[in-house]
Amino acid sequence: MSAIDDLPPLRAVIATHGLQAKKALGQNFLLDLNLTAKIARSAGDLSGADVLEIGPGPGGLTRGLLAEGARRVVAVEKDTRCRPALDEIAAAYPGRLEIVEGDALRLDHAALLRPPVKIVANLPYNVGTELLTRWLDPPEWPPFWESLTLMFQREVAERIVAEPGSKAYGRLSILARWRTEPRIVMDLPPQAFTPAPKVHSAVVHLKRRAAPLYPAEPRMLTRVVAAAFGQRRKMLRAALKGMAPDIETRLEAAGIAPTARAEEISLERFCALARELSKG
Ligand code: SAM
Repeated sequence: MSAIDDLPPLRAVIATHGLQAKKALGQNFLLDLNLTAKIARSAGDLSGADVLEIGPGPGGLTRGLLAEGARRVVAVEKDTRCRPALDEIAAAYPGRLEIVEGDALRLDHAALLRPPVKIVANLPYNVGTELLTRWLDPPEWPPFWESLTLMFQREVAERIVAEPGSKAYGRLSILARWRTEPRIVMDLPPQAFTPAPKVHSAVVHLKRRAAPLYPAEPRMLTRVVAAAFGQRRKMLRAALKGMAPDIETRLEAAGIAPTARAEEISLERFCALARELSKG
């Protein structure tokens, strides 16, 4: 295996800087730099882009992103212990790595970056879904980013790309497919990480659509989908009865059988129902 840069191996970095993984911060590190470079490549051509990385930790993926030619990486890390290791990477790639200490849930990401922007991260599992939902549901569309390339637990990755009729199909699948083209690009076994988590992981690549796939008012679509999947075992006429007094008529107008259940309904039909309900 060839080295991707002249910096020390990650095991040495962790030992030198005392970066023992903390469970509370969702720390499962990737120590194989060939693997992190491969994840960086799965985000597409990075050469003309600013990359936002959440949770660089000891910097394995950060080094992959820089070695693969990212114009600039902005890395947001909550754990201040990682700073010295990240400063060493910044010194090896002058002017290309900006380290931001803080909580990714509390920062205005767009303000840190210049377009075009790609987001690439091995996310802490405890905040991953929350961050994804926020990136997929901004006040304006298109958002500040062009694509998201993100590590999730395999089960969450399957929910993101799920099609109607499957158990994994739900709110996340609908939101993701409505506004992006999502696909799983890589599977990782627990042993790829240090320490190894209990579950398998997968990298999902989501390319933003210029406009949502079908017209619908975002707030209404969110409400309908939340109500439908909130009681996914129930027929839609029951699960959605709070949405309109004449819900059966509205469902039929949208081409949906009132006796159908949420997991049978395509994104296109959910959007038709949201438009129907937006009529008031
Ligand atoms: N990118 C590194 C890698 O691939 O080896 C570390 C990935 S580890 C799964 C998640 C990282 O996110 C940790 O470094 C952790 O400290 C950081 N983190 C956890 N919560 C965070 C938050 N709210 N904001 C920013 N970083 C956070």
